[in-house]
Amino acid sequence: MLRFWNTASRSLEEFRSIQLEKIGLYTCGPTVYNPLTLGNWRAFLFDDVLKRALRFSGYQVTHVLNITDVGHLVGDGDMGEDKIEKEAKKTGKNAWEIAKEREEIFRQEMKQINIADDVSDSDMRMPRATEHIAEQIEIVQRLEEKGFTYRTSDGIYFDTAKFPAYGKLSGQKLEEKQEGARVEVNTEKRQSTDFVLWKFSPTDQKRHMEWESPWGIGAPGWHIECSAMARKYLGQPFDIHCGGVDHIAVHHENEIAQSEAAFDVPLANYWLHNEFLLVDGGRMGKSLGNAYTFDDLKERGFDPIVYRLFILGAHYRSKVNFTWEALEGARHSLENLKKAFLSFGKEAGAVLDKELRAFREALEDDLNTPKALAVLWEVIKSSALPADKRVTLLAMDEVFGLGMNEWKQELIVIPEEIKTLAEERWQARLAKNWLESDRLRDILTEKGWTMQDGADGYAIISR
Ligand code: AMP
Ligand code: ZN
Repeated sequence: MLRFWNTASRSLEEFRSIQLEKIGLYTCGPTVYNPLTLGNWRAFLFDDVLKRALRFSGYQVTHVLNITDVGHLVGDGDMGEDKIEKEAKKTGKNAWEIAKEREEIFRQEMKQINIADDVSDSDMRMPRATEHIAEQIEIVQRLEEKGFTYRTSDGIYFDTAKFPAYGKLSGQKLEEKQEGARVEVNTEKRQSTDFVLWKFSPTDQKRHMEWESPWGIGAPGWHIECSAMARKYLGQPFDIHCGGVDHIAVHHENEIAQSEAAFDVPLANYWLHNEFLLVDGGRMGKSLGNAYTFDDLKERGFDPIVYRLFILGAHYRSKVNFTWEALEGARHSLENLKKAFLSFGKEAGAVLDKELRAFREALEDDLNTPKALAVLWEVIKSSALPADKRVTLLAMDEVFGLGMNEWKQELIVIPEEIKTLAEERWQARLAKNWLESDRLRDILTEKGWTMQDGADGYAIISR
């Protein structure tokens, strides 16, 4: 029985309508303009693990993860520049170039953290907003025909007052939303909750990315791309829509409003949102200097897979506090897991049914990955046959995605510098120069190596 927390109903729901063999899953993707943060990666890991878990339970999943390469504006309330055009100005590049480069890096990073992409997963699509302009214009036209839009000096807007259900996902009434909205600078909007569907290009400058439309040259607003691409690839309604909790109040309300106003059927049946990643107990932000990226991970010697294990250790609906110490803990766990897995040998074995059932039940109960991980450790500690433990772990890794299949006994390469230090220490020891021998041993320790002294020689050991 699949049970998940549905943001739309604000309750744990049995996924009754998912009797279908094929689940349609839409997850809001990245805006490709600057390096993605570990916060963003938490969202993409959630999507990936959810998809793997659904497949583990026997469902076929068609997954759409969009690439936002146009339209996402800097400010709330549809003010400010397009993030990608802004980055282009800052760097002296073209917006098309920025988007292409960033998407390429996103794809490389997906690989490094074992998140499936549309190459490794034939049931996945990663459509770009810029390649679906016609589909977006079509929806805006439909909304216009049905009287849901109005025109201002800078674009075509959705009139949220015409959609009485506006706010149903977050459970906020329109008036409450307006009171809560930040001081609005766009005085031409009828309500602060209204949002842009088509933004005109400024009259005094040319955008790098712009298109003809029935309303003039411009670019789509951000939200409309998800409505258009979800409908195109999954139909409407589709089964599950995901994103981070920050998307609930604005982006997803807007997707719902425009899709349902245009087509008179729900956009999605279930809404699942991942909680936020905090850093040192607080918000993560560029201005705070803690918007860590994969480059920061690598600079500090962490494989992104360590971060994957760190995120699996928390439930997706709990906030997670990121610290470097906590990540060090995850590295330690990953090393222990690797050691245990490799010690189980290579022989063929049989899956441990009872344990695998407990694992599956944990995942089917609102994607309880911490509990599923606890089952994995129980298997490791159990008295079952090593070969059986090994194949059971491999089966679990279809969901965890830690890449166990690739794990092998790594050959440790001893750097020349360490070899020289060790030899010098050995010679000092033979000469009974204890002071020098201790000094060299301390240097080796500091560099992460120890020496095991024998009667006629020594071994160099990595800690
Ligand atoms: P964006 O490129 O801003 O649309 O963000 C991509 C995804 O990352 C969205 O699903 C966001 O909700 C999510 N996200 C952004 N920051 C965080 C964070 N600190 N923790 C978890 N998810 C986040
Ligand atoms: Zn979206």
